[in-house]
Amino acid sequence: MAHQWRGVIREYADRLPVTESTKVITLGEGGTPLVHAQKLSELTGSTVYLKVEGMNPTGSFKDRGMTMAMTAAVASGAKAVVCASTGNTSASAAAYATAAGLQCAVLVPEGKISMGKLSQAIAHGATLLQVDGNFDNCLDIARKLGESYPVFLVNSVNPARIQGQKTGAFEVVDALGDAPDIHVLPVGNAGNITAYWKGYKEYSAPFESETAGTLPAVSTRTPQMWGFQAAGAAPFVAGHPITEPDTIATAIRIGNPASWDGAIAARDESGGFIDAVTDDEILAAHRWLSAKEGVFVEPGSAAGVAGLIKKHAAGQVPTGKIIVITVTGHGLKDPQWALRTEDGSEVQPVKVSNDVVTVAAELGLEEK
Ligand SMILES: *Cc1c(COP(=O)(O)O)cnc(C)c1O
Repeated sequence: MAHQWRGVIREYADRLPVTESTKVITLGEGGTPLVHAQKLSELTGSTVYLKVEGMNPTGSFKDRGMTMAMTAAVASGAKAVVCASTGNTSASAAAYATAAGLQCAVLVPEGKISMGKLSQAIAHGATLLQVDGNFDNCLDIARKLGESYPVFLVNSVNPARIQGQKTGAFEVVDALGDAPDIHVLPVGNAGNITAYWKGYKEYSAPFESETAGTLPAVSTRTPQMWGFQAAGAAPFVAGHPITEPDTIATAIRIGNPASWDGAIAARDESGGFIDAVTDDEILAAHRWLSAKEGVFVEPGSAAGVAGLIKKHAAGQVPTGKIIVITVTGHGLKDPQWALRTEDGSEVQPVKVSNDVVTVAAELGLEEK
């Protein structure tokens, strides 16, 4: 019997705060591939997998949380939702609000939003306001709107988002048969590292389901959580918020993470760490993924891979382990980064005449 993936709420209903009567808003998110990263495995001597979250309906992991947040918005009787966004949250909120029949307002910071993400929010009919400030300012305003006006906040400060995003960890364990030794991911607002840790913890112990009684543990262990921030936006490394975060990795250009305590708990309880990588290291990892592994991600998504490569160079990656890296969003969101060479110049296609001999010669082919 053919089976179509039903989205994370239906697939993991007994581990989420929903009941049979919940009206589920879904676009079929989750069920993303866990791809064996051959070259990263060869490099490190561990078995490395990529959790390719760009394969979600709007091209980033944000959809896992948004299905829950929008389902909660509908349950609350909301008519409109609001979010602050570096881009992917707005793309996801706009799509899921459309599916739910709700109005969607999006606050994006000035400058530096990728064209792919903006076009998604517009295409799905969101009201988009560019605020004269950074992401952290946008989130402040969105929170205040949610408190004092009739709009439902769908940022990851909404616990429904974390609930949905924890399903990423469930899928990893379900695919591997147990938790990995190490889970690596980019850290921006820190909702995702908080959510993965919650998922891994819940899967490693008996779980009190709201609808299905006590569920047995699925995994025998939890991984170390390794988070990586961009060096110009690394509040966890600094130990305090950063007022002017700056990085080309716009998805993680956040100075005052909303899920601060969750990230610290994930780091410390798991025996992991949160470190930083430079923009050059991020772009090198972005190129590595597309050129060596066949996986195209947006720059921010490559921060985890950049971190693994950096730690390997420092002799700090153990061999013989299972390592999963979440690559968070699709390369088509921000495609111009692929069109730049290492020295920063634009890649141009080679122009040739309309003639097979010329094309063969340009390709270095000899007639057989
Ligand atoms: C949102 C986002 C991040 C950062 O995730 P947080 O939960 O904010 O830490 C990283 N990469 C991409 C592509 C994102 O959209």
